[in-house]
Amino acid sequence: MTSTLVTGIGLLVTHDAERSERTDAALVVEDGFVAWVGDAVDAPVADAALDVEGRCVIPGFVDSHSHIMFAGDRADEFEARMSGQPYEAGGIRRTVRLTRQATDDQLLANAQRLLAEARAQGTTTLEIKSGYGLTVEDESRALALAATLTAETTFLGAHVVPDGITRDEYVDLVCGEMLEACAPHARWIDVFCDTGAFTVEEARRILTAGRDAGLGVRMHAAQLGPNPEALALGVSLDAAAIDHCTYLTDADIELLAGSSTVATLLPGVEFSTRRPYPDARRLLDAGVAVALACDCNPGSSYTTSMPLCIALAVREMGLTPVEALRAATLGAATALRRSDIGHLAVGASADLVVLDAPTYVHLAYRPGVPLVHRVPTF
Ligand SMILES: [Zn+2]
Repeated sequence: MTSTLVTGIGLLVTHDAERSERTDAALVVEDGFVAWVGDAVDAPVADAALDVEGRCVIPGFVDSHSHIMFAGDRADEFEARMSGQPYEAGGIRRTVRLTRQATDDQLLANAQRLLAEARAQGTTTLEIKSGYGLTVEDESRALALAATLTAETTFLGAHVVPDGITRDEYVDLVCGEMLEACAPHARWIDVFCDTGAFTVEEARRILTAGRDAGLGVRMHAAQLGPNPEALALGVSLDAAAIDHCTYLTDADIELLAGSSTVATLLPGVEFSTRRPYPDARRLLDAGVAVALACDCNPGSSYTTSMPLCIALAVREMGLTPVEALRAATLGAATALRRSDIGHLAVGASADLVVLDAPTYVHLAYRPGVPLVHRVPTF
């Protein structure tokens, strides 16, 4: 057993229910887990020591929503949107063509590059979806590759209906042969239930089939407009999270507040599509569990930066700095139904981030500045 004393912590955020923040703190890591947390003066002896010299230490970010298994680039679409053209879900088909043409090595190298980029910005857990293959072979390939990078893999065959197949035939394929090939590599099933993507009835069939195959349920919904039926479907299937939630009715919020489903907000999407940000304050005040994630994808949000999402959530969505940090760590861990990550209480995985700042407030206060000093491995 090896232990490391992390000391000299100016401000430590644990999210421990008893005492979430400590000053002049230390913690001990043993075999990859937090074994002790307390005042630096009381710290026990350990095999090794890491002095962070007064910096702030936070739990590593949990990015519970990404689409990093793809090939190509769509900077021209972003440029066109910023010149006034609206966002449409159909651009996904362009990435599908390029992803199918890419070799395994090319796909994996691109995903590894993005994963390294995310880690350098403090992300220690990243969910990865399929959804740019849309054939049995290409979806299962994407998930098999993703499973080499993370335990949090999501089958998103129901991203859009690809060219050359009818809607009904495609939904049959997703629920049948494609699910069978993908389930061994996936923890979750997801569906894009919105205008231009899949209907609520199609989503019901797909998510139910996935659940019956042993996968956990999550959804993309209410990105492009209100969709109370989609929200009701997600909650009725005990979805771990409904992601986007840009347009929620009062009844949707009440439903979410009384459920164990997390609302995951993806402010990078509103930023990159120039759409109105959701009001996160309204959700928290109603008692809804909220997560923040990047939704890294080449179309509607090509960022791996959780600090950017925190800054946007604080500036544009009504969260306080500590609420945004909590949503990006503990909230997103809940959106993955994980209790071992997203916090630094005793027993948690030792996924911690040392900020080059005296407080996590700097994540929003100093937007666009690289504030991650190090992401130690133990
Ligand atoms: Zn997404």
